[in-house]
Amino acid sequence: MELGNVKYEERLEPVSGRAVPVLKGETLRITQVDGEQCIDFNAFNLHDYKESMSVGASRRQGLRLHKGDVLISNAPRYNAMLLINEMPETCVTDTLGARCNAVLYEFRFGMEWHTNCQDTLAESIREYGLTPDDVHDSFNMFMNTTWDAKGAWWTDWNTGRAGDYVDLLACMDTLCVPVTCGSGDVTLVSNFSLRPLDIAVFEATPDSLARVAEIEEQFAAPLSRQGPADFRQPNIRVERELTRDPTYEQAFGRYPLQREQLTVSVDGATAEGLSAMVAAGYGNDLSDAARRAFMLWCQSNIGSVRRGDQSSSQRSRW
Ligand SMILES: [Zn+2]
Repeated sequence: MELGNVKYEERLEPVSGRAVPVLKGETLRITQVDGEQCIDFNAFNLHDYKESMSVGASRRQGLRLHKGDVLISNAPRYNAMLLINEMPETCVTDTLGARCNAVLYEFRFGMEWHTNCQDTLAESIREYGLTPDDVHDSFNMFMNTTWDAKGAWWTDWNTGRAGDYVDLLACMDTLCVPVTCGSGDVTLVSNFSLRPLDIAVFEATPDSLARVAEIEEQFAAPLSRQGPADFRQPNIRVERELTRDPTYEQAFGRYPLQREQLTVSVDGATAEGLSAMVAAGYGNDLSDAARRAFMLWCQSNIGSVRRGDQSSSQRSRW
């Protein structure tokens, strides 16, 4: 994909970061200067800071994100924010570690205050009037975490090399916040060192905007996606104390549920199949087995049937 001219560039020295606007169609490039440096990353909608990148929502594509995956915004927006447009195989990504913080270093290492990503992110976004409370879980690049089947996880050696870079294509106007992770000197997340990163923003091109349009189509959900205009309570609280709204009345969606009993006739061969399912433990009785079998089929096929298209497998990645 053709990128435009460089409109902004800066070297991020160790334990620093920058909040930088990256508009729709523009590309943020983050480059390893010496290699082996973990990058922590936050992102906000430039026009509504309450919409920010959700590592949890993005993680639905996989516990590690790769080239071609998309960073998704928080509930209930679930918009495509940034496409990972270039990412070398040496960039192992992490969606588990959230971000390092001073409290962690105090109780793990007895340190009074250690450089950390929570505080570096908070200082970076202060330029735009945001607070430490507005820092969210970071998407971590060049962070080689791994895990076992019981759910334990740990960090391995950093595999980033000098010159490696990641390109993030903005699918909306964003405030991107890359920072150099501050844990590198005491953990192997950055191989016991703290190193710089280069950042650059490339202007949009017809090529990049066409790619954004493809992503928008891939994530289209016009019937369900909500924004502030859809919220029953649209106001952003300014008081920290929580108090009950005495006028509140519950209004859950499709509540209470409506249930309907359906009678389905099956032929002998199907009944035999259902009996085999029950014998194998898939269902408590024939009706239950029939319901499960049908719904298993629905999980894979109902999207394309209802929309009348063939894009179900592409969409189901998220
Ligand atoms: Zn960190």
